[in-house]
Amino acid sequence: MMRLPWFEHRAPSTVAEAARILAGEGPAAMLIAGGTDLLPNMKRRQMAPKVLVSTKKIAELRKNGDRVGAGTTLTELINKKDLPLGLRQAAHQVATVHLRNMGTLGGNLCLDTRCNYYNQNYEWRKAIDFCLKKDGEICWVATASKRCVAASSTDCAPALIALGARVRLVSSKGEREIPVEALYNNDGIEYLKRAPDEILVDVTIPDETPRSTYWKLRRRGAFDFPVLGVGAAARFAGDGTVQSARIALGAVASRPFLVEKAGEFLLGKKLDDATIAEAGRIAASRAKPMDNADLDLYWRKEVAAEFVGYSLRELRGDDMREVRLRVARQII
Ligand SMILES: Cc1cc2nc3c(=O)[nH]c(=O)nc-3n(C[C@H](O)[C@H](O)[C@H](O)COP(=O)(O)OP(=O)(O)OC[C@H]3O[C@@H](n4cnc5c(N)ncnc54)[C@H](O)[C@@H]3O)c2cc1C
Ligand code: SF4
Repeated sequence: MMRLPWFEHRAPSTVAEAARILAGEGPAAMLIAGGTDLLPNMKRRQMAPKVLVSTKKIAELRKNGDRVGAGTTLTELINKKDLPLGLRQAAHQVATVHLRNMGTLGGNLCLDTRCNYYNQNYEWRKAIDFCLKKDGEICWVATASKRCVAASSTDCAPALIALGARVRLVSSKGEREIPVEALYNNDGIEYLKRAPDEILVDVTIPDETPRSTYWKLRRRGAFDFPVLGVGAAARFAGDGTVQSARIALGAVASRPFLVEKAGEFLLGKKLDDATIAEAGRIAASRAKPMDNADLDLYWRKEVAAEFVGYSLRELRGDDMREVRLRVARQII
């Protein structure tokens, strides 16, 4: 049985109080929301914070109006019918019912990066002399690399990036608001541009929300981390011409990212099959999956164009229920 290391537990009731604790304790403290990512990581000794600062009692993080509070659980997100479909589809495909009941939006956006050589227990990692991300000196995926290439595995981030959403970060020094894509570094270790004492408080989604969707590739349809995530959103003129489009990819780099070129390519065009295929090709050319996750690396890269195609077909109004079922059953 894997046991948790010892830690001190603090449960502030305001963001300001939490920010003060984080500032005082420094990097030895970490926030904990649902704990569905952090606690398993602590059991595997990938993280050993001395102080856990719980967000559970902070009402401000659960407020939902113009902004979606970071403490909103994934189940609550799914049930909020006024939220864009793409975000709700992404939340719905995270983990399992129990984990979605516990897991929060903030925790999902700050999820640790993943790698087959890292998401193992302490003894397993010790047997290979660890790796760059924790306790070791080499990256087993790219042995010449000085950078960890573990994969970003958050489902909600690509959906929010496609929607042009922004996150608000608060610390004892002040606050700042940045686009979701600007929260991430393409680095498996320093994957967040969030300072250790910053609290992700909420997310704003632009008022004029376009049509949106999220498609996910994983081995098991029941639950699994993504090995590819596609968030797409577009706004159309009355004649079906694309007025704006954003396509974001997840799980094919250490950060989720916007493929600007694919969105630009779609501007002023109608989503006919040829246009969709070309947008898929452009987006897939940016996918850089590594050999550190499930399913064949080359196939994952190839299939990215198909998944962008599925998302654009759904945005143009095709009935994609059958394809979604096939994807869930891995008949693709
Ligand atoms: C079996 C299993 C399957 C899973 N499958 C998926 C999946 O398919 N897709 C997916 O995306 N995730 C998956 N997860 C991961 C996880 O359940 C979700 O991402 C969940 O949303 C994490 O939220 P949490 O509140 O539990 O985060 P926590 O575990 O509490 O925290 C995660 C990280 O976020 C930080 N954090 C939390 N809240 C804040 C905040 N407000 N501000 C700043 N930092 C914060 C924590 O310090 C920690 O570093 C899975 C987990 C398990 C165990
Ligand atoms: S990508 Fe390399 S350094 Fe990063 S977790 Fe995997 S093996 Fe470790």
